[in-house]
Amino acid sequence: MKIHEYQAKELLRKFGVVTPRGKACFSVDEAVEAARELGGSVWVVKAQIHAGGRGKGGGVKLARSLDEVRTIAGQILGMQLVTHQTGAGGQKVRRLLIEEGADIKKEYYVAALTDRATQKVAMMASSEGGMDIEEVAHNTPEKIIKVFVDPQVGLTDAQAQQLAKGIGVPDASLAQAVDTLKKLYTCYMETDASLAEINPLILEGSGNIKALDAKFNFDSNALYRHPEIVEYRDLDEEDADEIEASKFDLAYISLDGNIGCLVNGAGLAMATMDTIKLFGAEPANFLDVGGGATTEKVTEAFKIMLKNPKVKGILVNIFGGIMRCDTIATGVVAAAKEVKLSVPLVVRMKGTNEDLGKQILKDSGLPIIAADTMAEAATKIVAAVK
Ligand code: GDP
Ligand code: MN
Repeated sequence: MKIHEYQAKELLRKFGVVTPRGKACFSVDEAVEAARELGGSVWVVKAQIHAGGRGKGGGVKLARSLDEVRTIAGQILGMQLVTHQTGAGGQKVRRLLIEEGADIKKEYYVAALTDRATQKVAMMASSEGGMDIEEVAHNTPEKIIKVFVDPQVGLTDAQAQQLAKGIGVPDASLAQAVDTLKKLYTCYMETDASLAEINPLILEGSGNIKALDAKFNFDSNALYRHPEIVEYRDLDEEDADEIEASKFDLAYISLDGNIGCLVNGAGLAMATMDTIKLFGAEPANFLDVGGGATTEKVTEAFKIMLKNPKVKGILVNIFGGIMRCDTIATGVVAAAKEVKLSVPLVVRMKGTNEDLGKQILKDSGLPIIAADTMAEAATKIVAAVK
């Protein structure tokens, strides 16, 4: 799960990380009022969307008077902001963050993230802050420093020093940078984040260290432990079909292909997508109906897949273990009838009550194409959509 920058900063402040003062706003009047309350003579008007690269896309602008705050807030609020992370359609801006302007002397990058290769938490830092870190990693990988944290010990002073010195934080600000890194690590651990990124972390003219931008990803499987983070969820920023699927406890992810797949078990779902690709087509989605799929769940799954206009065929691949094939077959038939299925449907089922399941499909009178192996199923659905 992702959250907005202003929420990320609120979290960071809870853990003692210093950020500029600011306020989230939902209207232009609110934005002007927020700037007035903050005081000072320079403000930053920042689009709040769940995507980075807002600066380059025109979603982060400086204002030097309250009139300018009004003008810029009016431009940004409601705009369709396109960044390299939003896709060509962009994302509509519905919230703003108004902040006091910062006096930036230097921008750094720091982050805590889950490193799958070492199965550890990595703390990453770079002198090239404010830039797209993927670009830095690609062009000048030597400018990224990483340390791996022993979970029993946490981020040590020595490691934090190594990072802060490595990215060139001046001596007078080292203690603050070290402190910030340690707080970032604690925040990452205690919120069950999978990414906690500050880009840029800035050195101000005064020598102070502040988090100017922040981004978090949270492990969805741990959200039940963090109701306060779930509160931050903004459904406007999420894929409508994925939200619908989550209501029915279906693990669904939209993809770009034209073959919808309905599978039980995440591993089998991945293997099914691989097989579709192997046979020359692209899956339209990942969908795991889980172990306890009811007729209702299967029907919802069909509805969600078919809402996608790109779907030209559906492949159902079921392994009947705890879940019996006849149950799934009944669900598939009921769902196909309810949604008046108009695209080719290939069903492969194996395992408990397989014969019974196949009979139910056959007796349904629906034009369901049966398959025995994964290869046969993939061949048949790929042929059917062509
Ligand atoms: P992103 O483009 O979505 O990552 O948005 P950021 O919040 O990182 O802002 C992009 C860039 O805008 C930063 O790297 C800064 O260079 C600049 N910026 C943001 N806030 C301020 C500010 O208070 N003062 C100044 N001078 N520049 C700022
Ligand atoms: Mn940024």
